[in-house]
Amino acid sequence: MSDILPVDLRSDTVTRPSPEMRQAMAQAEVGDDVFGDDPTVILLQEKVAALLGKEAALYVPSGTMANETAIRALTRPGDEIIAHEHSHVYLYEGGAPAVVSGCSFNLLPGEKGFFDADAVRAALRPDDSHFPRSALVVVENTQNRGGGTCWPIESIAEIRQVADEHGLQMHLDGARLLNACVATGHSPTDYTRYFDTVSICFSKGLGAPVGSAVASTAETIKQAHRARKIFGGGMRQAGIIAAGALYAIEHNVERLADDHANAKRLAAALDETPGISVDIAAVETNIVYFDVDESYGLAQKLCDELHAQQVWMLALTPQRVRAVTHLDVSTEGVDYAIDVIRKMRIA
Ligand SMILES: *Cc1c(COP(=O)(O)O)cnc(C)c1O
Repeated sequence: MSDILPVDLRSDTVTRPSPEMRQAMAQAEVGDDVFGDDPTVILLQEKVAALLGKEAALYVPSGTMANETAIRALTRPGDEIIAHEHSHVYLYEGGAPAVVSGCSFNLLPGEKGFFDADAVRAALRPDDSHFPRSALVVVENTQNRGGGTCWPIESIAEIRQVADEHGLQMHLDGARLLNACVATGHSPTDYTRYFDTVSICFSKGLGAPVGSAVASTAETIKQAHRARKIFGGGMRQAGIIAAGALYAIEHNVERLADDHANAKRLAAALDETPGISVDIAAVETNIVYFDVDESYGLAQKLCDELHAQQVWMLALTPQRVRAVTHLDVSTEGVDYAIDVIRKMRIA
């Protein structure tokens, strides 16, 4: 039992590199990536570009830097970005588009983190000097705050059409794109073909310790590369960490299905627990949101009690808790968490 504790469901970022991944990292061939001669980084970038169906890719230290180098490459100061009001680029990147690219947001509402082509069309600014220039649409897939939901491809295709009609570019925040692919059976390029730039994270469900990538045309990646330098993201013997990312995309993609099954198992058990409600149909990948009855108290109180019993989750709003499954949480671990919750008196 002790080796499955704590059951850390706070995020899929908490994974630690496995012994095999560490071995790959220890043995990585390295160079100086600022000089562009780290062979492991070069190999990773080539593999990611191929995986995402783009000409080129750039390895960066974080998902935030992947998104922000893309935004910087695709916009000019004064531009406006159309995105969901619950998008990571808006909520969780410290206001970076305003700070580092001089962009403002036009935010769209919508169930599960989705919006449609009509909403984008309605958000477009007239071509008039009073207004910011509508420049970029950001889509997040899977949508984190929406519950790890997978975007319908038809909807993305329709948004692309509006973008093309009005000269907008499109960025895919694909931090968990491969979760969406494993859950739906679509290939990465089924999604990425609609986007000018795409980011993916290696340090989420894929289990690498550090890093993300941004992919696009060679010309746009050249701009992103310049932005990465400006943001302080040029790294030297980065092959050590890139080897972890390479290991992750070679070994840890198909197994995301296990995380999705564990999330569904957890969601079903939570839903049967008095005082807790879950929208089970919204649990499409590895993220579970659930609401705690007000008669019990705040979500934070539940998280504190769970924490005392070695089950870690995050209280995101006063009544709402998030649990995320990943490769360091086994089915046994999920069952332990279910057992702990069932023994608590919530209602
Ligand atoms: C985690 C995440 C990112 C990037 O986060 P970092 O912590 O900067 O790596 C970007 N987008 C989404 C949707 C995420 O969940």
